[in-house]
Amino acid sequence: MKILAVNAGSSSLKFTLIELPSKNTIASGLFEKIGIGNSMYTIKFNGEKITKEVDLKDHAVAVEVLMQELVDMHIIASLDEIEGIGHRIVHGGQEFKESIILTEDVLRRIEKYNELAPLHNPANIMGVRAFMQVLPHVTNVGVFDTAFHSTMEPKEYLYAVPYEWYQELGVRKYGFHGTSHRYIYKTISEALGRDDLKVINCHIGNGGSITAIDSGKVVDTTMGFTPLAGIMMGTRSGDIDASLIEYVMKKTGKSITEVTNDLNKKSGLLGISGVSSDSRDVEEAINEGNERAILAQEMYCQKIANYIAMYNNLLGGADVITLTAGVGENSKTTRKNIIEKIASLGVKIDDVKNDMRGEFSCISSDDSAIPVYVVPTNEELMIALDTLELINNK
Ligand code: AMP
Repeated sequence: MKILAVNAGSSSLKFTLIELPSKNTIASGLFEKIGIGNSMYTIKFNGEKITKEVDLKDHAVAVEVLMQELVDMHIIASLDEIEGIGHRIVHGGQEFKESIILTEDVLRRIEKYNELAPLHNPANIMGVRAFMQVLPHVTNVGVFDTAFHSTMEPKEYLYAVPYEWYQELGVRKYGFHGTSHRYIYKTISEALGRDDLKVINCHIGNGGSITAIDSGKVVDTTMGFTPLAGIMMGTRSGDIDASLIEYVMKKTGKSITEVTNDLNKKSGLLGISGVSSDSRDVEEAINEGNERAILAQEMYCQKIANYIAMYNNLLGGADVITLTAGVGENSKTTRKNIIEKIASLGVKIDDVKNDMRGEFSCISSDDSAIPVYVVPTNEELMIALDTLELINNK
């Protein structure tokens, strides 16, 4: 069975075609600059990558081109082979606690939460409608970034602000990266043969969030009402004192939108190092002795370590710590730095085991109080598995 996992942005469309139950990725690709001119796409298949420039006036045209290419490149013999399409949808509000088969009625319900994720949800939904238009007989499934976090309790998800803000405005912690956190929990619990694990999962890529999970249920997570909160990220500040926004506005004459933009796009590793949001560039600058890059890396790792220690307390002692996403899977330097900063928990790194990239493996020493694993994430596979499950239960 072939399932397409889709992540639609306002001018982009990312796809992965996955074979189930083998879990093999058959093909993947990205359509870019849809509707804004100079559009192009790349498709990877059989170890080869094609890139083409073509006018894509909207997402439906991109989907039509994709379908044509899948057949022309002999990736599939006919469109009938695609049995389901799973869509990443960023925000399901408080209503969508698990993945769901998408209909026009469900899409309208999801649209109620567009205000909570104005940059993502409308684009995600536009992607779904494009597929519905081009492949009207195929089942579409929505998989929400927020859903896995819906098990949090009020004492974790409420902010200490006027209660009416929660009741009337929906102001609360929602959490994000839920599909990745859920995939990592599933992978580590299958690998260790336990479904009662207390896991601290650190999803650290360009964006980043840490989640405390107990027996498959999220207890707390670092991202909040939006993905700006929590740990320091590539370009996002993570937690700040909300009062600094008004102060910076008054001092600089910037609007609230400009300051919020600075917090989202000019902060984090980029803001402190002044070099880059990419940890590879920051590491290079560190090797050249760049003081601000050294400071940025120290702050980045310390904030992650602080949350790990806090979540270890919240869970009453974690069984395992997992690291995933671009930085967690690839940067042995950052992993080592984080683990050294949680030495007080008795966690110890094994430098030999840590000397690898992108593999599922244990990187802590045998006498570490809590084992640490690197677990490569695969949100697309999680989306495909949810899609298959809902199709099978239809
Ligand atoms: P993601 O958002 O999960 O795709 O992660 C992207 C980030 O992973 C990039 O911005 C880099 O900072 C980081 N990254 C990827 N490869 C490496 C590497 N080899 N060493 C250090 N960081 C890496």
